[in-house]
This record gives sequence, C-alpha cells and structure tokens, in this order.
Amino acid sequence: MAFDYDLFVIGGGSGGVRAARIAASEGGARVALAEESRMGGTCVIRGCVPKKLMVFASGYPQAIADAREYGWDARVDGFDWVAFRTRLHGELDRLEGVYRAGLTRAGVEIFDCRATIADPHTVALADGRKVTAKHILVATGGHVDFPDAAAREIGISSNEVFHLDALPERLLIVGGGYIACEFACIFTGLGAKVTQLYRGAQILRGFDDEARGLLAEEMRDRGVDIHCGTTIIGMERGADGIRVRCSNGHEHLVDQVLFATGRSPNTAELGLEEAGVRLGRRGEILVDAYSQTNIPSIFAVGDVTNRINLTPVAIREGHAFADTVFGGKKRAVDHELVASAIFTQPEYGAVGMTEEEARELHRIEVYATSFRPMQGAFIGRSERVLFKLIVDAKSRKVLGCHIVAPNAGELIQMAGIAVKMGATKEDFDRTVAVHPTISEELVTMRTPVRTA
Ligand code: NDP
Repeated sequence: MAFDYDLFVIGGGSGGVRAARIAASEGGARVALAEESRMGGTCVIRGCVPKKLMVFASGYPQAIADAREYGWDARVDGFDWVAFRTRLHGELDRLEGVYRAGLTRAGVEIFDCRATIADPHTVALADGRKVTAKHILVATGGHVDFPDAAAREIGISSNEVFHLDALPERLLIVGGGYIACEFACIFTGLGAKVTQLYRGAQILRGFDDEARGLLAEEMRDRGVDIHCGTTIIGMERGADGIRVRCSNGHEHLVDQVLFATGRSPNTAELGLEEAGVRLGRRGEILVDAYSQTNIPSIFAVGDVTNRINLTPVAIREGHAFADTVFGGKKRAVDHELVASAIFTQPEYGAVGMTEEEARELHRIEVYATSFRPMQGAFIGRSERVLFKLIVDAKSRKVLGCHIVAPNAGELIQMAGIAVKMGATKEDFDRTVAVHPTISEELVTMRTPVRTA
C-alpha cells in the first residue's frame, strides 16, 4: 500500500522535531509534522528556555549586592519586567523560527494544526483532511495538572508566568518539585515575597535527603518562606488580593497563587485508545525500549511516555527512533545515569543514586563535604555548598554524585561523564584538583563521613 508519508509526527516539541529532522535528512524519509500550538514545545516556549532566562534575570540583585561588598559602586534601581518580558518573547520567537527552519531545510512538511490518530496508518487533521503514513510518532508532551477546579480558576501555572502583566509582589507557590522550587527562587530573586507550600515533609521528594535538606535551608536563608506538611484549605479573591487559608493555621494574602503540582501526559482525545494503543495508569503511552507501542506502526517519545521527563531524554528518544526505523541502526535509549539539575539558587545537580536508594542495594561509603565558598565567605555571606559522592564499597564505583552549589548544573554535566563511564572513587582521587575552585572538593575527599 502506498502511504502519503513514511512518517507522520504529532507534536513539534524537542522529541518530535528531532525525530522528524533525522528521519527526513539522514533516513531519506518523506516526513510530515503537525503542531497545534507553537513549534518548539514545552521546553522552548513555556519551560526550560524562558525559565532559564528568568533565572539569569533573578540573579542580578544578589550579584550587584555582592559587587558592592567587593568595593564596586553598584546599585539596583528596580527591575523593568515589561522590558524583560518583551525581550524574552522576542527570543522565543527567534528560537521558534530556528526550529521551523530546521524542519523545512530537512524537507519536513509542517501542518500548523491539531492532528489525531484515525487508525494505525491514518492521521486526521483539524481541518478535516486525512493523510496516511507508514509510521506515526506521537510526541505530544504533557500538560499542567491543577489539584482541583478552585486552583484552576484562581491560580496560575508555569504556562502563565511568562505572560504576566505585572510581577506579583506577594506570591504563594504550591508544590515541592522542580518547577515550584525553581520559581520560588526566581521570584524571590526578582524581589517578590514568596511563600511555598508543600504537602510532604521535605521539598524535592525523590532527591538525596542531605542535598534537599541543605537546599531547603539555603532557600529559606534567601527569603523563601517554605511551609512543609501544609496544604490549602480555602482561597478567596478579594479587593486586596487572594486570601489563602492553610492547613497549618496560617493565612496568606497574596497577589498570585502559582500551582506547580505536576504534569501529565497529553494523550486525551488523540484517538490512541480507539487505535488500540495501550496506555498506563497515568495516561502515558506504554512503549518498549525502541519507543514502539503495542501497535507496530505507532511509536511515542518524550513526556507523553512518562519515562524520564527531561528535554535531552526526549531528544535522545526521538533520535534513536529515527535511527532505528529509518537509519538502519537499531538503537534503544539508555535511561541509566541521566544527570539533571534544578535551577534553584543555589543550583542542585544530581546523577545516579541517592544515598537512600544506594543503601537499599549496596554496601556504601559516603563522602561528603559542606562548606562556605571563598567568594561568599569573603564578604560574610553564610551560603553553604555540598559535594557528595556515594561509593559502592565493593566495586569502588561512584554510584551517585550530588552537588548543591552555584552552577551545579554545569558541574554535574562534567561529573556525569565520569559517573557514566563507571569511574571509581580512586579514579576521582587520582585526578589532580583545579585550584582554587569550589568543585576541587570532588577529588579531595579522603575519608568517608559514613558507611552503611
Ligand atoms: P513534580 O512532579 O516534580 O512535582 C510536583 C509537586 O507537586 C510535588 O511536590 C508533589 O508532591 C506536588 N503535588 C502533586 N499533586 C499535588 C496536589 N494535589 N496538592 C498539592 N501538591 C501536589 O512536577 P513539576 O510540576 O515540578 O515538574 C514536572 C516535570 O517537569 C518534572 O518532573 C521534571 O521532569 C520536569 N522539569 C524539569 C526541570 C529541570 O530539569 N530543571 C525543570 C522543571 C520541570 P509529592 O512530592 O508529595 O508528590
């Protein structure tokens, strides 16, 4: 049977765009891609990229305060949110253009509309047209979850943050994950009074206990008012703001409430179940190591599969799919030892196991050091950093590395190479330190602080 396309990709985010480009340019496939919103997806349009630019913006008041301590005649005269926001959106427009141009150059046909699956080889476009494809790749990403209707009505999500008319002076953030912690630090840096509510005992569940403990302390020191074990029991909007009543008896009057309470895969009303595609409990598309669903012509990559919901992972999955199906190179994605960073202030970078996970599976030695780095200590700042290695006592391999420090995202990228290569503690030790740096501590920790 002759199909209109070899591949039809639904979703123009990181995973879908990479798959489409590689299938067309390297695999010689006839490819089409449909995107109902803006090309680039969550990462470029409403996630990693605008967030990171806001992280940069939020760091300047502290840098300027530090500069003064270092002898500079520097002062902050206020932040022009509208000027920043205009520039931010200009940059996102530019990046969207880059994505679009890359697809066009590769020969991918773009449909700027919603597409759904009509059957295992047919895609229905929003304008009523139907096209056929030998393979369909679903790369539709995820969407924000609000806890309930009141939250959706009164609150905002990270999607709206980049479009605010004015910066809130008083902001309440709900959640203790990546997004909640990052925006708590961003808005505190930009001068807002931030309250963060988290339902559990400590923010960043699933990360290393010692690291999350230090990070929570550092965030509090910088002014984030974190309340753990706390939920919202009522919210009312009044003339003076939104009044939020909390389970710990506190009441907060704020200008905005930001819900960062997780994300779910975009699988609703896509025609997946009708086509027989198996979904998991959270609505995610179930796939094998090659991103193939139980329907042989339908594949899925990225957040819609809810494996590891990070941009570089989606890109790898999209690339491996294109190599496997169109490039004659069968490639499964390696989901082991993926490093990631939380862009809080200070940042937290991690790769491999937490101490708590490692204890369950191995006999371990823990090497850790926490100290005040030179740059801040010089001017009397109390900021502390943490470097921590979790080592398998038998094989000597480094099972996990955790860094809470300025630029920990950059540092963990480098440490991640060594950990991924299977470096032992002795490999770290025989590496001569770069002095004076913060990260030299990674190669100078001589005795374990704990064994277990
Ligand atoms: P997370 O799943 O990381 O965190 C969600 C948070 O909301 C958790 O603290 C959770 O609590 C809490 N929560 C969930 N439901 C409720 C509820 N009904 N009431 C109150 N609290 C609730 O999601 P995020 O939205 O922060 O981020 C989504 C994903 O995006 C991340 O998992 C990550 O993969 C990705 N991301 C990565 C970034 C990076 O790499 N730097 C940055 C931003 C996002 P509990 O812990 O108790 O479940």
